[in-house]
Parts: sequence; structure tokens; C-alpha cells
Amino acid sequence: MTAQAGRPSVRGTAPDLFDKFQPLIDQRAALLAGGLTDPFNLVMERVESPTVAICNGRRTILLGTYNYMGMTFDPDVIAAGKQALDEFGSGTTGSRVLNGTYQGHRECEDALREFYAMDHAMVFSTGYQANLGIISTMAGKDDYVILDTDSHASIYDGCGLGNAQIVPFRHNDVEALEKRLKRLPADAGKLVVLEGVYSMLGDIAPLKEMVAVSKEAGAMVLVDEAHSMGFIGEHGRGVAEAQGVIDDVDFIIGTFSKSVGTVGGFCVSNHSKFEILRLVCRPYVFTASLPPSVVATAATSIRKLMSGGAKRTHLLENSKRLHGGLKELGFTLGTDEPQSAIIAVIMPDLERGAAMWEALLHEGLYVNLARPPATPQGMTLLRCSLCAEHSGAQVGEILGMFEAAGRKVGVI
Ligand code: PMP
Repeated sequence: MTAQAGRPSVRGTAPDLFDKFQPLIDQRAALLAGGLTDPFNLVMERVESPTVAICNGRRTILLGTYNYMGMTFDPDVIAAGKQALDEFGSGTTGSRVLNGTYQGHRECEDALREFYAMDHAMVFSTGYQANLGIISTMAGKDDYVILDTDSHASIYDGCGLGNAQIVPFRHNDVEALEKRLKRLPADAGKLVVLEGVYSMLGDIAPLKEMVAVSKEAGAMVLVDEAHSMGFIGEHGRGVAEAQGVIDDVDFIIGTFSKSVGTVGGFCVSNHSKFEILRLVCRPYVFTASLPPSVVATAATSIRKLMSGGAKRTHLLENSKRLHGGLKELGFTLGTDEPQSAIIAVIMPDLERGAAMWEALLHEGLYVNLARPPATPQGMTLLRCSLCAEHSGAQVGEILGMFEAAGRKVGVI
């Protein structure tokens, strides 16, 4: 290639650093050449509610958001955000450890401590950064992070940043975890990282058994409850609460970008030395803190989630109905029974997955098209995530759209 072709070539032999992406560029081009709408470039032109948006000028039911508890349009949440914007301005322009801790950040951490009934809470700018920060700071190069192979990218990246030894074990396999732990030196630092709900297939972890074998081996345990907060467990604290092991978990990681309905991440813990992390955790220290309006919406939403029992019940009913309905239509699903608000529809391949995704969009339904490397075992998934604000009538409409699109594309 020449400099005229757009690439600055000082020394002609150096490779174009984009070359490693060529297979992906080719695959994408082939997929779009047939006139397919780009599934990774959809624009929400207007958002009317947690469950309806205008996409390509068309009213579209949203079944691919993480708005599990439907808090994004809650009037109290919006009012709190507006008030904070008026009173504290649009941004903090600084790190939490310098000028970036406002009253609202403290109140948000108080709300989290109360929500989880834990001693400590630390708010990060995203959930990604919360995992990155806690894992990389707790587990250094001589320590082991024992993790499920299906772990979220932020967990793997946290191990990378801390340079820890990664010990993967087979997804949700208690025996495999136990075996790996037994092989590690008794005197080595160990952090077992688990998720409550695994976001691709929507399955939950056997935390009770996993926490027990981890503690037996002297490991600390971190559970990412991103997809269960607000919905699973008596108080909405997640799968660790539902399975009765929350007091044995050292760190719970969560996010404001799902049930809480805004953006941000956090870690809660009962460990007596936890507060030192505020000084040594690089993804906490070396980035700007969340804007005042965001922490105000988060704190209000978290407090409202403490009394979200009725919403939880409705969301559970919706999950059961959608899961049962899709199964009856003949779709292959990620779990035999609904285990969370995520229902994954397994597609035979990327081409038919993309065609089905587009057919659903034409019907007026948005779901997530998920593909490797985000998905396990190279699967292509149509990931449906329900919202407590979906009405019974909308679930009926959604099933009708799946039936029409599925027949059109020939996957049922
Ligand atoms: N953990 C898990 C399990 C997730 O699925 C996600 C986001 N999808 C995150 C962490 C990161 O959360 P955030 O969007 O707040 O960065």
C-alpha cells in the first residue's frame, strides 16, 4: 500500500497495524453486502419509555436492554437528576480522590451500603472499571485469579491489568473449580471470581457450592452481580443473597447501567481494610468521577429498588411466559427453565442469526444479536432481556413477532 492510499508509510516494510482485523472486516463486509441492516449500528431516534423506542422511524419494542427494573423513566429518578444538575453543575471535572467527591457520591455510597447491608461501598465510573479496578488491585503478579471460562471481558481485563495468574475452570462446574483450587500452592494469594447471572445464556451460578469450596481453599471470593441486582434475592441483592451465601462473599461488584438505569459501577464489601482501595486502585484514582446528576439518579433509583417487590414479581412472570412461549414455538433456548430476566435464543449460525435479527426489527422488535467472542462456544444468540415495565400484552406481541420472523427466516 502507498502513502497516497491513505496510510502514512515512512518505512515501507512496517505492517499496517489494522491488518490483524482483516478477517473481521471481510466477514462484516460479506454480511452487509446482502443489504442487511448493520446489527451493531442501530440508532434509537427517540426513546419513549423503558420498553418502546423509535428506530428507523418505526415504533419498536425494546427486548434487548439491561433496563430490568424499568427505572430510566421513573419520575423521582429524573427529578433527582435534574435537581443535581441545577445545584451541582454538569460534571465534577476531577478524580474521586481530589476534587471529584461531591455530597452526591457519598449519598450514593450510603444508598449502596444500605441496599446490601454492608459496611463499605465504593462507586466507580462504570461497572467495567469496578471489575478492572478491584481485580487488578487485589490480585497481583504472584496471585491467582480462578475464574469461570464464561467470565465477562472486564474480569479478564482486570486479571490482565494486575498481571495475575489466570486459572480458568469450566463454566459453572463446581468440581472443576475445586480441582483447580487444590492444585494451587497453599500459601499463594487466591481470588475466585464468579458471576451471579451469566449474561450470554442467562444462567445462574451454583454460588452456594462454589463459595464453600473457595473458602475451604482459603481463597477470597468476588461475585459480579451485574445482571441480578434489583431482581434476584429477597432484597434484590442478587444470586449470593438468594442462595444464602452473601455473608461469605468478600466483594460484590455491580453496575448502575442495568437495573439502576443510569451509568456507573460499584464494589461493596464487609472487609475491614476495604477503604485503603480508594488510594491504591488505579481505575478509581486516575479517572474523573461520575457527574452529580448521574449519582443523584443512581442513589434515588437504588433506594426505590429496596421496595421493588411488585416489579420483581411481574418481571419473573414475564420471564416465565416468554421462555415458555418461545420454547413452545420451537426455538432452542440457552436454559431449560428461565433462570433470570435474560432469555437467549440460540441461532444455527451467524448468517441466520443476523437474518432473524433483521426480520424481528422489521416486525418492530429489538433484541441483541450476540456473537463470538462475547458468546460461549462460538454461539450466535438472539439475546432477549425483559423489563419489569413490559406489559402482558407486549409479551404477547413479542411472541407473535418471533413466530412471524422465525417462519420467514426458516429457523422454526
Ligand atoms: N459485569 C458484567 C457481568 C457485565 O455484563 C457488564 C456489562 N454488560 C459489566 C460488568 C460492565 O458494566 P458497565 O456497563 O457498567 O461497564
